[in-house]
Amino acid sequence: MHSVTIGNVEIRALQDARPLMDPRYMFPPYADQMLDEYPDLIVDQERQLMQLQITSFLVRTAGKNVLIDSGLGNRKRSGFPPGNLDEALREAGVDRGEIDYVVHTHLHVDHVGWNTVDNEQGEPEIYFPKARFVIQEPEWDYWMEPEKVEAPGNEHLKQCVEPLRHSGRIDFFNGEAPFDENLTFIGTPGHTPGHVSIGVYSAGERAVIVGDASHHPMQLDHPDWSPAFDIEPERAAATRSRLFEEAASDGQTWIAGHWPYPGIGRIVPLNGKRVFQGL
Ligand SMILES: [Zn+2]
Repeated sequence: MHSVTIGNVEIRALQDARPLMDPRYMFPPYADQMLDEYPDLIVDQERQLMQLQITSFLVRTAGKNVLIDSGLGNRKRSGFPPGNLDEALREAGVDRGEIDYVVHTHLHVDHVGWNTVDNEQGEPEIYFPKARFVIQEPEWDYWMEPEKVEAPGNEHLKQCVEPLRHSGRIDFFNGEAPFDENLTFIGTPGHTPGHVSIGVYSAGERAVIVGDASHHPMQLDHPDWSPAFDIEPERAAATRSRLFEEAASDGQTWIAGHWPYPGIGRIVPLNGKRVFQGL
């Protein structure tokens, strides 16, 4: 049971997938230094691959079930295993019909996947029958123009986001704003233009669900190591540094879906460095 309670909010990690990634593809300018400094990073010696996680979070807040990001989905995609979020939800004892909101930190392929599954005719259908989908307006504007939706490599937009367009089930937000009595959006741009993290503030306790502001704990030593997926690498690095600083100074719980599963813990100072202490 990988969950944490923050005041009146319960947050549960739901593991969707465990892809192996090539650090030379993911962090091209830093890969050599990375492999030198973190020899244990490589888990598949033959293919020289590192482990990444794709974890969504089920947040029970103010009587609602809120799913933060919807993973890879069950379609076959090159470079990724299919996701298992459906199973993880079942194990958590939650039916997909009980999800009230799907909140997106951003609209990348590994964060929107289960929004839809294909029916027998091969057409995408919304997977969460009751859910409203919470999307940042700048993020929508950046990705959802027709040329980008139709572009090769962006099939996830067509399959998992476009079907929401006329569904009447999108709630748009714009940057820093409260979502409900416990959750607040924190603008964390850089990875994508409209990227947000989610602050959880309840009964004097705090947590931050960071989204893709950070992909790996080694960024604690090297906040400037922005992966190739960061659209604005320098801005992403500045955002990452700020989040690390805040988390280390006020002891809030750190929750990161790409960090080693379940990605829940604290960032603490140790011997002049910052280290992650997992739950
Ligand atoms: Zn991601």
